Amino acid sequence: MAAPTITDRPVRRPALSPSRAGDFKQCPLLYRFRAVDRLPERPTRAQVRGTVVHAVLEELFSLPPAERVPDRARELVGPAWDRVRAERPEFSELFAEGDPEQEEWLASAEGLLDGYFGLEDPRRFDPDARELLVEWELPSGVLLRGYVDRVDVAPTGEIRVVDYKTGAAPREVGEAKALFQMKFYALVLWRLRGVVPRQLRLMYLADRQALAYQPEEAELARFERTLEAIWDAILRAGRSGDFRPNPSRMCDYCDHKALCPAFDGTPPPYPGWPEPDAGAETPLDRVD
Ligand code: SF4
Repeated sequence: MAAPTITDRPVRRPALSPSRAGDFKQCPLLYRFRAVDRLPERPTRAQVRGTVVHAVLEELFSLPPAERVPDRARELVGPAWDRVRAERPEFSELFAEGDPEQEEWLASAEGLLDGYFGLEDPRRFDPDARELLVEWELPSGVLLRGYVDRVDVAPTGEIRVVDYKTGAAPREVGEAKALFQMKFYALVLWRLRGVVPRQLRLMYLADRQALAYQPEEAELARFERTLEAIWDAILRAGRSGDFRPNPSRMCDYCDHKALCPAFDGTPPPYPGWPEPDAGAETPLDRVD
C-alpha cells in the first residue's frame, strides 16, 4: 500500500491522535500551543533523522525480499533524505550548505538501520501494511486517527502492530508514552478489523532492543473510555479556552516556554476552537 505523502493529506474534521492526546495529558497548554494555535516548532536533527529512517524502512518492504539487506537499506538513506526535504523544505535549514556534520548525521541514520537489522530479518516476511492511516469513530462521536508504522498479519490471522523508535532518549523515558500510543493503535485496529491485536511490538533501533506487549480486550475497552474522557476534557477546555500549564521535567523539551505562564511568559490571545482539524499528527510526532 502506498504511503500518503506529508503534503497531500486531506483536511478532516477534529480528531484525536495519540500524540495530541499525549500532549493534553502531559500539559493542556502544550496541547493548545500545538493543536489550536499551531505554533511552529523547530525540528531537531534527531527527529528529522527518525523521519528519514522511517521512510527507508517503509521503502525497504517495497523491494523484493532478497534485497532487504543492510547494504541496500543504507543506499536508500540519501534518496529518502532528498524526498523528506522536498516535502518539508524547512528541514533543509538543519544543515548549512556543505556542512560536514550532515555526512555524520546520515551515517548515524545508517547506524539506526543497522540496529533494525539486529532485531529482525525483513527478508523473512511481508507486512500487511506500512505507514497505515487508521481512523475509527467511537460511539460517542470521538474520531480516533493515527498512523501505524507497520501491521503484520500471520497466516493464522493474528495481528501484530509494530512501531519503530528512533529517538536518542533512553527507552524508559518514553516507554509509558509509547505504550499509550500502541494501545491507541490496538484499539483502532480491533474496532476496524474485529480482532484484538495479538502483539504490540516496539523496536528501539538505537539500543537494538524490542519490547513486546499483549493487549487484552477488557484493557482496550477501558482504554477506549479513557480516550473519551480525554476528548471530553479537550472539548471543555476548547470551549472555554482554559488550557492550563502543567509544568514537569518535560518542559525542558518544550519549544513554547517563552509563552508559558509557568515560566513568566504570556500566551497569545486564544484563537478559538479550530476547524477543521485539531488532532493531526505530524511526521515528527511519530519518530520519538
Ligand atoms: S513549558 Fe511546560 S508547562 Fe509550559 S506549555 Fe510547555 S510543557 Fe506546558
